[in-house]
Amino acid sequence: MTVTYLKKAAPRPATENNDIRDIVRIMLTNIARDGEEAVRRYAKDLDRWEGDIVLSDADRAAACARVPEDLKADIQFAHNNIRRFAQAQQATIQECEIEVIPGLIAGQKQIPVSSAGCYVPGGRYSHIASALMTITTAKVAGVPHITAASPPREGGIPDAIVYAMDLSGADLILNLGGVQGIAAMAQGLFGGKPADILVGPGNSYVAEAKRMLFGEVGIDMFAGPTDSLVIADHTASVETVAWDLVSQAEHGVDSPVWLIATERDLANGVLERVHALIAELPEPNASAARTSWEDRAEVILCDTREEAAAIADRYAPEHLQVQADDLDWWLNKLSAYGSLFLGEETTVSFGDKTSGPNHVLPTSGAARYTGGLSVHKFTKTVTWQRCNTEASHELAQRTARISRMEGMEGHARAAEIRLIGA
Ligand code: NAD
Repeated sequence: MTVTYLKKAAPRPATENNDIRDIVRIMLTNIARDGEEAVRRYAKDLDRWEGDIVLSDADRAAACARVPEDLKADIQFAHNNIRRFAQAQQATIQECEIEVIPGLIAGQKQIPVSSAGCYVPGGRYSHIASALMTITTAKVAGVPHITAASPPREGGIPDAIVYAMDLSGADLILNLGGVQGIAAMAQGLFGGKPADILVGPGNSYVAEAKRMLFGEVGIDMFAGPTDSLVIADHTASVETVAWDLVSQAEHGVDSPVWLIATERDLANGVLERVHALIAELPEPNASAARTSWEDRAEVILCDTREEAAAIADRYAPEHLQVQADDLDWWLNKLSAYGSLFLGEETTVSFGDKTSGPNHVLPTSGAARYTGGLSVHKFTKTVTWQRCNTEASHELAQRTARISRMEGMEGHARAAEIRLIGA
């Protein structure tokens, strides 16, 4: 294999995660003990928010009314695409029933969780699309109660996010960000139902809070900083590839972007062009993208597309873009990614905002073992069984013998009670 790193990421400092863990542990402990009072205190200290935590119906309607009509139309377009994609997924969720042996019927049912907490990040950017992605998907899955939380800015959650939450079907909206938002939804504070599952992206505090609460509640996944990989061959354009990398570096200083190229000229062209493109961004986006590029970005040169595919699978990126010939070959070959974007005509920005497939995706290599948010994450696959007397007698005898071999006398007796009168 001939693989050359034209640019490598700096090693990550290991200490920061421990600090975040300690902060989040203390916050969760205090909120578990003091409930709404502790939540209000954190909202005030961290987000300078002393207003209502629950968004009233009147405030919800007023916020929606303030959203300009053309923006509403764009949000409706995205919502429609996300809903249609989720509905197609929902149609793949199957129940089944078989006669395992004569007289023994077993089946599988699909039951939505009874409540979901959807976190919509909002510290740096107004993540309108995260509201659509999480709440719409829960709604299509049939979740009966959905709470949404997002950090309040001055005046509360931005109007466009409120509109997206409302359009998607949020039952309760909380002016809460970070750990306090996550904990409030988990506990069902401020009139909500305790969440069975917490979903949605967020910063390291949000991700750590979800990780610590996992077990007590379900979570979609443990999310690290967003990441993105572009595979490019001789057909790719330097300018398009460079913008695709810069646009994803814009997410934040921790967000890695990677390029795997099969052409040295293309790789060098991108390396040269990126800095000028970053300079075209407004601040603070430009600074975030510059640091992300300098510290986290990697540019890898491969001789063959087989090598490129093998390395991409090793990175298991959250977003994977292919700007190369023979897109069907890549679709068949690649096996580890959160979401795949095939061809120059599409881009991660489409998936992030409007095209339909979910943007809540596995990061930090988790795409090796999981996909992203879907109706399946809100749905429990459960099983049931029942049998007639004849099947019950056969099962009882065999079960009793296996149970005794295992030393489980109670199990054997429960089986044999079914034989009385046989
Ligand atoms: P956020 O809403 O996740 O976090 C803001 C909250 O963090 C604040 O409300 C505050 O309460 C809390 N906080 C800030 N500093 C704190 C501290 N020192 N101690 C305790 N709590 C603190 O918004 P953000 O910070 O802008 O992060 C958004 C994240 O979501 C980014 O990492 C972005 O990449 C990610 N994201 C990912 C996707 C995806 O699908 N992968 C989509 C959108 C956003």
